[in-house]
Amino acid sequence: MPGFYDAIIIGSGPNGLAAAITLRRAGLSVLVLEAEQTAGGGIRSAELTLPGFIHDVCSAVHPLAIASPFFRTLPLAEYGLEWIHSPAPLAHPLDDGTAVLMQRDVHGTAFQLEQDSNAYRKLMYPLVRDWHRLESDLLGPLRVPHHPIEMARFGRRAWRSGYGLAKKFFSSMRARALFAGLAAHSMLPLEQVPSAAFGLVLGITGHAVGWPMPRGGAQNIARALVAYLRSLGGEILLGVRVRSLDELPASRAVLCDLTPRQLLSLAGNRLPSSYQRHLQKYRYGFGVFKMDWATDGPIPWRAAECFRAATVHLGGSLEEIATSERECGRGQLALSPFVLLAQPSLFDCTRAPPGQHCVWAYCHVPNGSAFDMTDRIEAQIERFAPGFRERIVARSILSPQDLERHNANLVGGDINGGAANLRQLFLRPTVRLYTTPSRGLYLCSSSTPPGGGVHGMCGYFAARAALAREWKLARSD
Ligand SMILES: Cc1cc2nc3c(=O)[nH]c(=O)nc-3n(C[C@H](O)[C@H](O)[C@H](O)COP(=O)(O)OP(=O)(O)OC[C@H]3O[C@@H](n4cnc5c(N)ncnc54)[C@H](O)[C@@H]3O)c2cc1C
Repeated sequence: MPGFYDAIIIGSGPNGLAAAITLRRAGLSVLVLEAEQTAGGGIRSAELTLPGFIHDVCSAVHPLAIASPFFRTLPLAEYGLEWIHSPAPLAHPLDDGTAVLMQRDVHGTAFQLEQDSNAYRKLMYPLVRDWHRLESDLLGPLRVPHHPIEMARFGRRAWRSGYGLAKKFFSSMRARALFAGLAAHSMLPLEQVPSAAFGLVLGITGHAVGWPMPRGGAQNIARALVAYLRSLGGEILLGVRVRSLDELPASRAVLCDLTPRQLLSLAGNRLPSSYQRHLQKYRYGFGVFKMDWATDGPIPWRAAECFRAATVHLGGSLEEIATSERECGRGQLALSPFVLLAQPSLFDCTRAPPGQHCVWAYCHVPNGSAFDMTDRIEAQIERFAPGFRERIVARSILSPQDLERHNANLVGGDINGGAANLRQLFLRPTVRLYTTPSRGLYLCSSSTPPGGGVHGMCGYFAARAALAREWKLARSD
């Protein structure tokens, strides 16, 4: 390592890599230091069960990556990234043996929602039409909107709880269930504002851009980002766990792809006590209990629609899903948890040996929970796909603790770098957002706006803040 870099980035998750690329594109020398032996943080894949089965350890389905205004500026296809879209983004099976299929087409989706066809169209269509104007305002920090009319239209619908929206707009069980599954991605109790906003963003992206997966697994997003960074002359060192900022080579800026707890441990001595107190008050969200399976055939879904979607939401009705998330919010374990499942090998033959499949799923649990949810998750799959257990050849189980060992940012199994409650949606992790009171020190992880998910926008905005502050390079956003 040379003795000086313009900027050092700690952590090579999508946000760390996005920050490094933004700074390098501005002509600065950058070094990324990654604790683990593989780059990518939440976008890594591994043979978790058996050789030949490529499982995504963390993220699997990527609406926000394909919607990301920053990723769109990168030539990632030239570095091997290829998106695969299943025929429909999402299936939501029900106990009557049918499933609601969220299709790319709003009308095709609405058609399945009985008396709620018009309500679904009226809710979603204007937002889907406006998505390309909404994306820059929604995937960034709170500021004067670029498109105030479209944002006001979104806000009127979104500024409520997922439960409230489902009840107000829909009367059928099918439409309510579909929206409950979308809103549950907020990792908030569905009675809490702004869980509806998460449901809407996921629904809109499903229609507007799709919910794709990278051919070969999420690791290929990281590979492409790293290869592009290196092509620009950026450096990355793997297997270097930073324990204190004092260990780093000299630099003008340090950007941490870390959550507040780690920032406190690495940089506590440099931070004024008032800022430390704010970071200590930062709230982590639900944890997740993650499972992967190698199977000797496709999942035996009762509803044929489920074979057309890479993502399947398992939890039944609005009431059931709301109960599962409410219990989690109270620190309890759901008996019948809402399960998010992906079946990538149905659409990507590179993921498993011929005729065999890899399956990815998780459910929400209280932060740090040590309870084994294996039986409850598998029972939820069996409910909609009787015979699933007989197809299992091998399984991998990752508790919240295992996930945190895999990636120190997953505090207590929280996959979003902190709860997305009202306060932390905007003031994330504090009112200073990407900057800290320590000159040259920045946060660039999903603990900053716009929060969790693979989109790189936190890293991009943190790098823009550093460029403006340290190098006086004007911000255009
Ligand atoms: C089980 C699971 C499922 C998910 N599913 C999806 C999904 O389907 N779609 C989606 O969009 N998102 C999903 N996510 C969320 C997504 O992975 C994260 O929001 C995203 O990776 C956050 O990116 P980041 O760059 O902020 O941090 P991370 O990706 O967490 O990267 C942080 C990096 O910093 C490194 N690091 C930590 N401490 C140190 C240190 N002291 N020194 C050096 N390096 C350090 C870590 O090793 C890691 O590589 C999922 C996450 C999990 C865990």
